[in-house]
Amino acid sequence: MVEESVPATGGCVCGEVRYEAVGESLFVGHCHCHSCRRHTGAPVVTLVAFAADRVTFTKGDRKIYNSSPGVERGFCGQCGTSLTWEGEYRGLPLIGFHISTFDNPDAHVPTVHVRHGERIDWFDVADNLPRLRGGSDDKEPYHIGPVIDGLKG
Ligand SMILES: [Zn+2]
Ligand SMILES: [Zn+2]
Repeated sequence: MVEESVPATGGCVCGEVRYEAVGESLFVGHCHCHSCRRHTGAPVVTLVAFAADRVTFTKGDRKIYNSSPGVERGFCGQCGTSLTWEGEYRGLPLIGFHISTFDNPDAHVPTVHVRHGERIDWFDVADNLPRLRGGSDDKEPYHIGPVIDGLKG
């Protein structure tokens, strides 16, 4: 939920793919789902999503893998950096970037955990953000702050 006067820029580790996004991000959150974790190899991913029409690939382009119906995953075909989650939310096409591909990840501050019900049992993050068991459509969080006993709530 960041309003930036300058575009948010980023790219892959080798520099072959560069992107920029303008305006306000629509979602900044940690996703614990199986697909995001497997796509990146990380225990959790942090995504910053923009309306797809606010995003421009300014150098090169990502390769796309269709990970499930309606969901695409973008990556650099040269260095393999995981770049995007792409799909629709409530009919709006979104592109969510993995936060560490931004040149200035500090500009994007997470507000929520989603798919917390799919997290790795022993893993949580020491913040006091709401945890949604499922996705952004969950009416309310099932937990606020870390689930410290390591067991799924
Ligand atoms: Zn690359
Ligand atoms: Zn995910």
